[in-house]
This record gives sequence, structure tokens and C-alpha cells, in this order.
Amino acid sequence: MSFEPVFSAQRPILVAGPCSAETEDQVMATARALQHGGVALFRAGIWKPRTRPNSFEGIGSAGLKWLQRVREETGLAVTTEVANAQHVEECLRHGIDVLWIGARTTANPFSVQEIADALRGVEVPILVKNPINPDLKLWIGTFERLHQAGIRRLGAIHRGFSSYGDSAYRNAPRWQIAIDLMQTFPNMEVLCDISHICGRRNTLAETAQKAYDLNYDGLMVEVHPEPDSAWSDAIQQITPAQFLAMVSSLVRRMPTTDDPDFLASIENCRSAIDEIDEEIIALIARRMQLVRDIGLIKKEKNVAVLQPERFRALREALLLRGQKNELSQEFIALLLEAIHQESISQQERVMNSTKAETLKTTTPPVQD
Ligand code: PEP
Ligand code: MN
Repeated sequence: MSFEPVFSAQRPILVAGPCSAETEDQVMATARALQHGGVALFRAGIWKPRTRPNSFEGIGSAGLKWLQRVREETGLAVTTEVANAQHVEECLRHGIDVLWIGARTTANPFSVQEIADALRGVEVPILVKNPINPDLKLWIGTFERLHQAGIRRLGAIHRGFSSYGDSAYRNAPRWQIAIDLMQTFPNMEVLCDISHICGRRNTLAETAQKAYDLNYDGLMVEVHPEPDSAWSDAIQQITPAQFLAMVSSLVRRMPTTDDPDFLASIENCRSAIDEIDEEIIALIARRMQLVRDIGLIKKEKNVAVLQPERFRALREALLLRGQKNELSQEFIALLLEAIHQESISQQERVMNSTKAETLKTTTPPVQD
């Protein structure tokens, strides 16, 4: 698939504006405050997908006129979220410059197809947020559906992934998924929506810096003249002044350099890392062998695979060890879960096979 850029603006590409368009004054005040701040695109949600009913669900079509006014009076290009064919048609009628597909919509192929069909024959750029669930294929599938409808100006917004329970983030970034998307579509512009990843103000700057360090093309940030009284996502929005200060404090690094000292030291570290990675795999393979041995013993005594007490103790000990070694709790928990899952399935295979020798690895069928 070939794509064309959505933005001609210089890097970093900044998309900013309120979570929701609330009143004409609020929209205009935000846009005026951002007008000379290097913003490439002004955002404001008109139709808002809310988790619970009885929350503010967006001002609706009336807000499109306010976005038109933003463009006329400030010269800023404007964007809003579309979730169905009717939204697309109304935006096109009002000359909205760029449309974005929200995370809940990307997760639903029926809605994505409806939007793609409404866009057939139209030349409007589309930004696609990742689906709420960590599924790269679903994200890619949305680009494919739009591409098949003839849309070429496509870009991505990484806004993190839902998870259950408290965490440092509102939506876990799972950076690797966005990195995999960048590798799948090397020419596509990818923005980081730090507001929906963080869900709070105090971690926005460090998350934005992380996105810059990972070579994102830019950021999407929710900006509101009075964040505390915003009608949606109040705790994650910042004022235009805070936004401009944050952006100017960020360090934009070069994608690479041909300085020989730099290249040599990177190369040294990389070969050491490669060796460590090989050792990690060898160690995990040894661990799995022991796990299978235990499986055989359990089988003999007819004991269950899962031993929750043992896992709990192991988890606690490793979280503590991780902490002592400056590894985040989140990382250790994920790592341990992956190892534990693999151990359980290896042990199940041993226990369900008639002979341990029949244990073979098979490639699972591809699912879609
Ligand atoms: C938004 O950008 O305000 C929004 C609703 O985003 P998401 O689809 O990422 O939840
Ligand atoms: Mn929001």
C-alpha cells in the first residue's frame, strides 16, 4: 500500500485543541491562543464517544460552524472525530480539513467500513487512532479499508490501549505496537496522543519527550482555556500557555548521525545486547525444560498444572528483585506473566501427551 503525507508542516507536527467543542467562545479562545504556536492542526471533538451515559456527548453538528470560523479567523486547519457515515457527510459539507477515526471506532470493522464507503471518491486526509484493544492487525485493517476506498492521505495516532485496574497511565502506551506500525508503514506519519495515554497532566511532558525520542512525527494534545471546568476529560487537559511551554521544553533529537565515534559506541553496545538476548533465550529454554520435568512429575501424581500459591510467591519475590534493579513493576509483571503463560502451556502439553517425546512445537494457524 502506498500512502501520501497528511501534513506538509515541519516536524514536529502539533495537533492541539480541546477534547470537546463546548461553546463558540471556548473554541475561539483556544484557537486564538494557539494561533501562533506552531500548531499544524486544531482539534475539537463534536460527537463524543463516552464510556458511561449521562456524560456530555458532544455539541453535535452546531460545532462544525465554530470549526469553520476557527479556520477563517485564525488560518488554522481543523479536525474532528467521525464515527459514522453521517458524521463524514456533515464534515465534508463544512469543509473540515482532516477527519480522525477514534479508538472505539477503529476497533469496529463495521463502522470503519461504513466510514470508508462514505469516503469513496473524496480526497480528505484521515488520521486513524489505534483501537482500544492492543491489536495491531485491527489498526492496519482500518488503513487497508480506507486505502481500498481510494483514500491515500493517511496518518496514525497512537493513544494507548485500555487495561483493567489502576495503572500509571489512563491507556497503557505499549510502545512496541506503535513501533511495529511504523515498521509496517515506514512512510506514514505517526503522532502520539499523550493526553489519552497519560490521562493526567503531570506526566504529559515526560511522555511527549519519550515520543520525540522514539521518532514520532508529532503530538496530539488536549488544550483547554480552563481545563478544570472542561466538560470532558478535565483532568488531562492543559491551558494553551502550559502547552506552548511544554512544547518548547522538549528536546527534538536527530534521527541519526554519521559521526564515527557515535556509530562505534552504538555498535559496541548493540553487540553486547545481542549476546545478552541470546543468553536470555537460552536461559528461558532451560527454565522451560525444568517446567516440563515438573509437568511429568505432576502427571505421575495427578496434580494440577496451576499452583496459584507458588505463582504468587514467585511474583512477589521477582517484583522486589526488579525494584532493587531499577526495573518497573509494570515490566516485571508483564514479563512474568508471559513466562508463566508459556510455562503453563508447556506443562499442559507434557501432561496431555502420552509420551514426553511427543512434545513438538507446532505453528498455530493464523487467525483473523
Ligand atoms: C478524543 O480524542 O477526544 C477521543 C475521544 O479519543 P480516543 O478515541 O483516543 O478515546
Ligand atoms: Mn478526550
